Amino acid sequence: MEETRTENLIVIGGGPAGYTAALYASRANLEPLVIEGFEWGGQLQNTTDVENYPGYPDGIMGPEMMQQFRAQAERFGARLISDNVDRVELTDGDIQRVWLGDEEYRAEAVILAMGAEPKRLGVPGEIELGGRGVSTCGVCDGAFFKDERVIVVGGGDSAMEDAIFVAKYASQLTIVHRRDEFRASKIMLDRAASVENIDFKTPFEVEEFIAGEDGSIEKVRLRHAETEQIEEVEVGGAFVAIGHTPQSDLVKDQIDTDDGGYVIARDGSTRTNLAGVFAVGDLVDHTYRQAVTAAGTGCMGALDAEWYLRDTPPSPEAHWQKGGEPVEVASNPS
Ligand code: NAP
Repeated sequence: MEETRTENLIVIGGGPAGYTAALYASRANLEPLVIEGFEWGGQLQNTTDVENYPGYPDGIMGPEMMQQFRAQAERFGARLISDNVDRVELTDGDIQRVWLGDEEYRAEAVILAMGAEPKRLGVPGEIELGGRGVSTCGVCDGAFFKDERVIVVGGGDSAMEDAIFVAKYASQLTIVHRRDEFRASKIMLDRAASVENIDFKTPFEVEEFIAGEDGSIEKVRLRHAETEQIEEVEVGGAFVAIGHTPQSDLVKDQIDTDDGGYVIARDGSTRTNLAGVFAVGDLVDHTYRQAVTAAGTGCMGALDAEWYLRDTPPSPEAHWQKGGEPVEVASNPS
């Protein structure tokens, strides 16, 4: 039977966090194996202009930026597999196992970087007008809506935060929420309410985002949640800010997660409750969720993994010589 070699490090996820972890780990001669996902690139794959990533003074398109992150990690020896992980078996300090279909990969350490997905309303026009007026990130895209009439959908802190940020650019901003009560903290709600060009429309649900002749958003159709009355509002932009779902399904039965499903990283590091398993990027981040913060924690994950591998004697099962070639073994121990 063919030997399964044990890698130093497997990185799961191909967004800014995963590629930055891979870059640092490959420069530390760990030759990481990156299982980047079939649709690698993460949320940036669906992002047009990125104007807030330092080092790109003229901005860059999201997919192009991810190409560059990926190429930079590969340049130093990261190996990439463009496929989705089907199953993992995580251990506390022992060999970590990862499966793509029936194919098993083993590693001394794993960095989880699967990211998070913005929640969607699931209404017509929402996906079709992505990048053409409908956005899920106020901080990323607010500046594109200067002097436009804009709506923000949602009633939590994310919606308030997006509204306060986007209102700096928009001429008028309406927060559309499906209930009269808000989930947002009082302080955030009060802050949004005190902004001169922000108003509220409740209880209304979005029925459809409608394009104009130029293919960008022109109107939003709203339905009163109680009377069912329909209203159309002309808008130049719409932000859907109804929360995020961390992509933790793969691991959530094996590792500590919080009530929202985010993997818990400990003590300001990327360490999880399992030795040898690290978590980075939006998978652990309720709050910031920016490409640059994800990249920052990706770097932390690689350093944490490097220190872990340095300080932890290799498992007897491991037959991968760190920084060198695979070592031949006479028999398969498992
Ligand atoms: P959240 O608290 O879960 O709020 C989501 C909001 O979206 C709720 O008002 C919900 O309405 C609405 N919603 C969900 N699905 C919807 C749908 N299909 N159609 C219409 N509306 C829908 O999520 P969040 O605002 O992202 O906040 C998540 C966590 O991060 C919270 O703990 C929050 O405090 C924290 N956070 C903090 C800050 C800050 O302090 N600066 C900023 C952002 C986030 P219902 O209320 O009717 O369910």
